[in-house]
Amino acid sequence: MSSIRHIPIIGLEIHVRLKTKTKMFCACANVDETTPPNTAICPVCTGQPGALPALNAEAVRLGVRVGLALGCTIPDHAHFDRKNYFYPDLPKGYQISQYDFPIAQLGHFAFDLPKQDALPERERVRIGITRAHLEEDAAKNIHDATSATSLIDFNRAGVPLTEIVTEPDFRSPAEAKIFLQELQLLLRALNVSEADMEKGYMRCDANVSLMAIDEHNLPAQHGYNPKVEIKNLNSFRAVERALKFEIDRQDKLIAAGEIPVGATRGWDENKGETFEQRLKETNADYRYFPEPDLPPLTLTDMRETEKVRLPEFPIATRARLQNEWGFSADDARFFVTNAGWVTYAEEVMSELGAWLEATDKRGESGSEILNERKRELSKLAGGWLTSKLVGLLSTTNQTIYDIKISAEDFAEFLHLIDDQTINSANAQKLLALMLEHGTDPSHLLEEHNLGQLNDPAALAKTVVEVLEQNVEQVVQIRAGKVQLIKWLVGVIMKSTEGRANPTQAEMEIKKQLGI
Ligand code: ZN
Ligand code: MN
Repeated sequence: MSSIRHIPIIGLEIHVRLKTKTKMFCACANVDETTPPNTAICPVCTGQPGALPALNAEAVRLGVRVGLALGCTIPDHAHFDRKNYFYPDLPKGYQISQYDFPIAQLGHFAFDLPKQDALPERERVRIGITRAHLEEDAAKNIHDATSATSLIDFNRAGVPLTEIVTEPDFRSPAEAKIFLQELQLLLRALNVSEADMEKGYMRCDANVSLMAIDEHNLPAQHGYNPKVEIKNLNSFRAVERALKFEIDRQDKLIAAGEIPVGATRGWDENKGETFEQRLKETNADYRYFPEPDLPPLTLTDMRETEKVRLPEFPIATRARLQNEWGFSADDARFFVTNAGWVTYAEEVMSELGAWLEATDKRGESGSEILNERKRELSKLAGGWLTSKLVGLLSTTNQTIYDIKISAEDFAEFLHLIDDQTINSANAQKLLALMLEHGTDPSHLLEEHNLGQLNDPAALAKTVVEVLEQNVEQVVQIRAGKVQLIKWLVGVIMKSTEGRANPTQAEMEIKKQLGI
């Protein structure tokens, strides 16, 4: 018995708000939460008697695109159903959703986990996608604690959603969190949603149960324990924390000889605990039936046109930035995660590549030496883009879209560092000037006298002067206190306003002192 352990079986349901101009079944604008309450409403989305829905084809198109990107089958036909339940935020008494004929089903999504987050043999995880169906959002209840009243904002009622349901294929909270981060990138790349969890544009429910596993890693029980569904998790962190808490709670119940009850639970962010909301309803409780006010959907044409319009997926972009351009995994992740950076980084690299092929005398195009040089340059570029440029942009309150530095100028700036025309301290000054003025680096370099002192005779002359001015330190160095050489290098850097090459300066000092 002691060899039995319990592993978590986790599935996710994600509601994604689709980026359409108008709502799903009426002409009201699809507005965000900054719009005053109840200003984007009409008889349809407030459920007035006799009002009829008219389908927004754009919502279907975005939903089909999500389905295709998740590797789902898009059927020739689909239809809408009524999901009946009573709640103040649902004025019709039912939600128009999809039940047995959704627009997308049976897909999968594969992604990689960083080593430190991965379970053994699960660095690459493939999650089954049960379905991705369309439905309308409900209105928003606003509870006012001081006056003990509840108000309803119908702006959100009828906003198009796609609900993505996964198979229970996750085995750890980290897998669930990283999946959601990858899914967010995908949805943004598809241009179907802002997919911001904090704004409620991507809302996640997570269900989890524990399963007994024997010493051969095989199930030691029939079927699953009842699952607990944690509702309305609105950040990546909340998903991970809530699942960790819930697994721990169920573990303790099982250890005490109990079986956790199937229930819907909420997540208290402040207490860091889940709490019971209600016992789980079954599909039968919703009395689904086909929506009689909407005709069935034919998806054959849309499926084919959307298929050819799919963009490159973020996971593929990341791999390409690493394999084709030689960026590190971290730099590639940064570019893909932050809007606008992939294009800029690729333009810089393509300028650098052209320059390299034109100037490199050592190898034929595509030769090993040339490839090695490309790798060096991509490391250099990655570092200057993701740390120095990002830092400068944030201190000047700019984004990559505001940048005045053309990719060509940025590439030229990197040459100046690469061929040691400028040292890295002065390069930082130069970059700030470029960002401010948008002028080309060679011009600014000359104007502000930032170039590296590469003339050996000039350097030798400076070293002579510095040694003469610091006789006391020279005596100490000769007496064996060689650490003072570094101090002298500092003096030389200061007297040349950072233009000397520190390595060459040190060599010249040693040469002149005969050590
Ligand atoms: Zn409306
Ligand atoms: Mn739903």
